[in-house]
Amino acid sequence: MRDFSQESGTHKSVSTKENILGVTRDDLSTFFTEHGGSSFHAKEVMEAIYRQNIRCFSQIDSITEKYRELLIEHFVIELPQIVKVQGSEDTTRKYLFQLHDGRYIESVLIPATPLEDGTRSERMTVCVSSQVGCAYGCKFCASGLDGLTRNLSTAEIISQLVAIQEHSRKTVTNVVFMGMGEPLANFKNLNKALDIIVGHWGLHLAPRSVTVSTSGLVPMIRKLAEREQQVSLAISLHGATNEVRDKIMPVNSKWDVDELFDALHYFASTNKQRITLEYILIQGINDALEQANILAQKAKKLGGFVNLIPYNTVEGLEWERPSDEHCKLFRDTVKATGVMTTMRLEKGHDIDAACGQLRLKEMKKTAES
Ligand code: SAH
Ligand code: SF4
Repeated sequence: MRDFSQESGTHKSVSTKENILGVTRDDLSTFFTEHGGSSFHAKEVMEAIYRQNIRCFSQIDSITEKYRELLIEHFVIELPQIVKVQGSEDTTRKYLFQLHDGRYIESVLIPATPLEDGTRSERMTVCVSSQVGCAYGCKFCASGLDGLTRNLSTAEIISQLVAIQEHSRKTVTNVVFMGMGEPLANFKNLNKALDIIVGHWGLHLAPRSVTVSTSGLVPMIRKLAEREQQVSLAISLHGATNEVRDKIMPVNSKWDVDELFDALHYFASTNKQRITLEYILIQGINDALEQANILAQKAKKLGGFVNLIPYNTVEGLEWERPSDEHCKLFRDTVKATGVMTTMRLEKGHDIDAACGQLRLKEMKKTAES
């Protein structure tokens, strides 16, 4: 990991200066205007950070020294510390990061899977975290086991992407908010991060390549639908009826399946981007074929996609994945209705294990030492 500490505080320190990775071009224009500069300076700084990958303000030579000093006085470029990288080049790579306050978060880099002829697309997906822990306590999930510690700042969201690009030397093409936390419970910081991710002056990803996943925070789904620059939506559904969803997702007692689908239809009516219904298959809990049929009907009406995920076992939780045969039967039942359905049946669960597990292991190690 390169050290960017030379000019304005180290990336490990708690700095009082603002991390520029959480700042939009408009915010920076306002800042420069208030300090005798103009939007030109903001444009040049964004260009230096996101196009030229400059990590020291003193190296931005398209602005004069006066404005470089101004930046050094008010901002830092701060990346989280990489504690561990699991996996190897060309495979899924899990990053464990430590934040300035010692908390851990995880992100995952997922390259495109090779095609039959051995080639692969340039797609590089990063799964990012939006909070430390999660308040929503879904019964199957490692991220919610200890509740919520805190929201991530916009800069902490963006810096996961920047740090992974730097470490892997790959350009990120897709982002999914499927790491730790409930992104829609951190809406303000998420919203700004989305502006930076899709901004043509920022990371410049296509809106359809950015997916926010939620367990179903209905009012926030509506707010997300109203964003000017639209993004794709994934819903952690995991139960097609209240009876099943109530058993595993406490959020369903606040906004039930009908309210959730009302919000999804609103999203679909105001948005061109796709909606994916995520459905973990957990043995004996939500894997009855009746659920497959109801799920398919709902997806069809919505014009959504279905992504089936055979459950990844979590240390300390008793849930299990159904047999491969049953998973395929469930998939074929949904597919038979004409709904676009995907499912991945990988062998080991180690690296692909649900987000939250690396962090749990690291916290346990710290507690034991
Ligand atoms: N809080 C948001 C974003 C996190 S996404 C949400 O729930 O959508 C994390 C995804 O991983 C969710 O779809 C979640 O349901 C899924 N997940 C959690 N634990 C899992 C496990 N043990 N096996 C497979 N998927 C899991
Ligand atoms: Fe939180 Fe999502 Fe995990 Fe539920 S599935 S506990 S909402 S991170």
